[in-house]
Amino acid sequence: MSRPLQARRLEGIDKNIWVEFVKLAATYSKVNLGQGFPDFPAPDFLTEALTRALGGGNHMLHQYTRAFGHPALVKVLAQFFEKLLGRDLDPMTNVMVTVGAYQALFCCFQALVDEGDEVIIIEPFFDCYEPMVKMAGGTPVFVPLRPNPPKDGKLMSSADWQLDPAELASKFNERTKAIVLNSPNNPLGKVFSREELGLIAELCVKHDVLCISDEVYEWLVYDGKQHIRIASLQGMWDRTVIVGSAGKTFSATGWKVGWVVGPDRLLQHLRTVHQNSVYHCATIAQEAVAQGFQRELTLYGKPESYFVQLPKELQQKRDWLVQSLDDLGMKPIIPEGTYFLVADISPFKSDVPDAPDSDEPYDYRFTKWMVKNKGLAAIPLSAFYSEAHKNNYTNFIRFCFAKEEATLKAANDILQKWKQEKTSS
Ligand code: PMP
Repeated sequence: MSRPLQARRLEGIDKNIWVEFVKLAATYSKVNLGQGFPDFPAPDFLTEALTRALGGGNHMLHQYTRAFGHPALVKVLAQFFEKLLGRDLDPMTNVMVTVGAYQALFCCFQALVDEGDEVIIIEPFFDCYEPMVKMAGGTPVFVPLRPNPPKDGKLMSSADWQLDPAELASKFNERTKAIVLNSPNNPLGKVFSREELGLIAELCVKHDVLCISDEVYEWLVYDGKQHIRIASLQGMWDRTVIVGSAGKTFSATGWKVGWVVGPDRLLQHLRTVHQNSVYHCATIAQEAVAQGFQRELTLYGKPESYFVQLPKELQQKRDWLVQSLDDLGMKPIIPEGTYFLVADISPFKSDVPDAPDSDEPYDYRFTKWMVKNKGLAAIPLSAFYSEAHKNNYTNFIRFCFAKEEATLKAANDILQKWKQEKTSS
């Protein structure tokens, strides 16, 4: 056949960081702090809910359910988000359940972005935004968070990475259809402040731009920080789709249950994509997640709430990893949220052999060298940047700290041994 086999929209998006690095971690790592998933169990109340759903009297939970979300789940999600957003929600039109946040994002781009539309993406970004915009025929327009290291020699915080307001404003024009916001941000762990969100909101309203707000780490914020939902700011509800994930919320990434919350005027179009692609996600998993949310609704804000306990535990894990990395001289950027942490690998250039014939960036070479020689897996930060900007950010790697104490201890042992080898060489 002389015609190309693949559709034109797949051109240039065939590479995927996760396929390569998940394989490397599986082959070489003793400790995997690469891909973002917990290695500790999902909470008992969730797995018990699944067991009850499986073995209980309702055999219909093994059959198809409502396409746009199992009624029990959309109802409780609507109740929960009514509380969070301070507005009435219709479970049937303001909420839709998806196959993870991944499919929620796919629905957003397919439903709202057209040929020739521009979509602003804040860098660094969860890598699937760019190919998803392109597959929808849109043009991604990138705007970076710029690091401003503190002058007092203290460790950097994710809050020190900020948008330049003039640069951000310069990206909005009559072709701009949407901006993707991810707060708390993967990979940096940045939790956008009310002022930063206010600036984005003002520009969205001024230029009549939609906001795809990826909030999958909404409960994972530390040091008393508050996650602010951009949809709650003046003029934003009507133009925002909130994306969420039970995988991140209940430490059960394999379940692939996600959702969107937003105005019907936007969600009606997401429903069209959903009904013509996936139709719905596993009924039984939706039923168990619904029960998880029921529990959290009853315990809202109480110390026994999983949404209170999980960030407490993760903050301690973050602090352990910060300490271990800092000890070795791999300066961590302290994340305000998520379960990721970015660290500066610029002092390690002499450890990694030069590769004069390779155009692979330093962070990729470092990460591969580290997993093969030290047994520790991470992800290069430049994977979270566009082609045009990735060469400016090759001195960092990302670790995931949603791990058992034993895993973090094993990571610390590797880092301590590495430090001893460095000091004795
Ligand atoms: N958005 C962000 C920012 C993520 O980090 C992830 C998962 N790593 C997703 C969306 C996808 O979530 P899910 O597993 O629910 O599809």
